[in-house]
Amino acid sequence: MTLRVVVVGGGIAGLAAAHRLRTLRPELDVVVLDQRDRLGGKLSTGTLADGLVERGAESFLVGDPAGGPSAALRLAEEVGLAAAVVHPTPARAAVALDGGLRDLPSGTLMGIPFKAPDSAPDVPSGSPLLPPGGDVTVGALVRPRRGDAVVDHFVDPLLGGVYAGRADRLSLRMALPALAAAAERAHTLTDALAEAVAASRRTPGAPMFGTIEGGMSRLVDAVAATLPDVRSGVTVRAVHRHGGGWRLTLGSTRDAETLDADGLVLAVPAAPAARLLAGVEGVEPVQLEYASVALVALALPATKLPDLSGFLVPATEGFAVKAVTFFDRKWAHLRRPGVTVLRASVGRFGDEEQLQRTDGALVELVRREVARIIGVDALPDELDRGVFRWGGALPQYQPHHRDRVSTLREGLDAHPAIAVAGAAYDGVGIPACVTSGRTAAEAVLAKLEG
Ligand SMILES: Cc1cc2nc3c(=O)[nH]c(=O)nc-3n(C[C@H](O)[C@H](O)[C@H](O)COP(=O)(O)OP(=O)(O)OC[C@H]3O[C@@H](n4cnc5c(N)ncnc54)[C@H](O)[C@@H]3O)c2cc1C
Repeated sequence: MTLRVVVVGGGIAGLAAAHRLRTLRPELDVVVLDQRDRLGGKLSTGTLADGLVERGAESFLVGDPAGGPSAALRLAEEVGLAAAVVHPTPARAAVALDGGLRDLPSGTLMGIPFKAPDSAPDVPSGSPLLPPGGDVTVGALVRPRRGDAVVDHFVDPLLGGVYAGRADRLSLRMALPALAAAAERAHTLTDALAEAVAASRRTPGAPMFGTIEGGMSRLVDAVAATLPDVRSGVTVRAVHRHGGGWRLTLGSTRDAETLDADGLVLAVPAAPAARLLAGVEGVEPVQLEYASVALVALALPATKLPDLSGFLVPATEGFAVKAVTFFDRKWAHLRRPGVTVLRASVGRFGDEEQLQRTDGALVELVRREVARIIGVDALPDELDRGVFRWGGALPQYQPHHRDRVSTLREGLDAHPAIAVAGAAYDGVGIPACVTSGRTAAEAVLAKLEG
């Protein structure tokens, strides 16, 4: 009898899980269900002034910290997109500080300087910075050792660029895992940073990021094309144990249908996962807060912008905009004659009222703030614009998040084949989500076969 595995969630984690299942066992009946009318979750390419624009995630790390290609690059290669992977230009990013654009400092890890300032030299604490398995916020580790300005001006905006989150809330172990591991042995932050950097197996000088020519949705489509049964517009409302496997309730409450599965991968954000896991005895779903963001993309007539890939804006500077990318500076393949595209991101965790504005008001705010930061009176009228809102977009991992995930996974072990995957558990970046999906697929297969 053919075994069926259902993957709930057709974001990159769910798609990677389904792809892994079919790669390892081509005979499996693998079904992917997603509630939206399209696949990809936070990966979505749209159009702007007749060109491409990323409505969500824009690029991915191409190297794995342990060496070799990242899981995202491997997935792209496996689905035939190796030749479509392109890298950013060498244009630098800046930080908006004190009314000007400053270079991001070099010799840092996520904005944390490798060397202690002369004014606050390292004082070994007599014990390692973190106990084994311990966790603190990034701010708690860095503020006392490098000062508030370093955190507020560099670490916080860099973390904000990834998580829309704040250094004083985010888990060190999730945001900077190599530094957390090193801090279990090192007695000073300087030693921990040196160890974390030495542990990286990334090839020096190799490009760090890549994207897909034709857009991130091309990766989604290419993975989906390898799968036998992908259904969008299908909401999974409940899951329950049924026989030796699972029964899913799908669709609207009035016309609910059921679908039975031998194995299940839940690759959805934390809140829907918690609702689905309510029907599974003895498990503790992970509770997680999310930051919401809005991206405002403007296609301007050819405009001279600073010679940068973009800039970050520290929360202390008093702007709603937290980051801006100059798309055609950063990505050579996106350059077009007569058009300059920038994309600004608005929304920091805890500052959601900025997102209550209408699309028109958000565009006006971005135009005003960007003009002020780059030092021009006004931006030219745009040829086209897009406002892309992501409610509940980016997980805000608090210290000890990993322990809560382990507890959930231990609880799931007592049940027929079931695994959770995605940004809610294993990291926000696309490579982490791909690895998470693949690992979930392998765990479900191991249970089905064992
Ligand atoms: C604006 C933005 C920009 C980003 N930029 C980058 C970037 O440049 N690089 C990078 O590495 N990362 C980036 N990220 C992060 C990264 O894109 C995400 O963390 C990642 O894509 C999440 O993948 P996922 O599969 O875990 O979840 P999601 O993409 O959220 O997919 C989950 C899917 O589950 C579906 N679903 C939910 N509930 C149900 C249900 N009950 N039944 C059926 N389906 C359901 C949803 O419709 C969704 O499609 C960005 C994120 C955002 C929001």
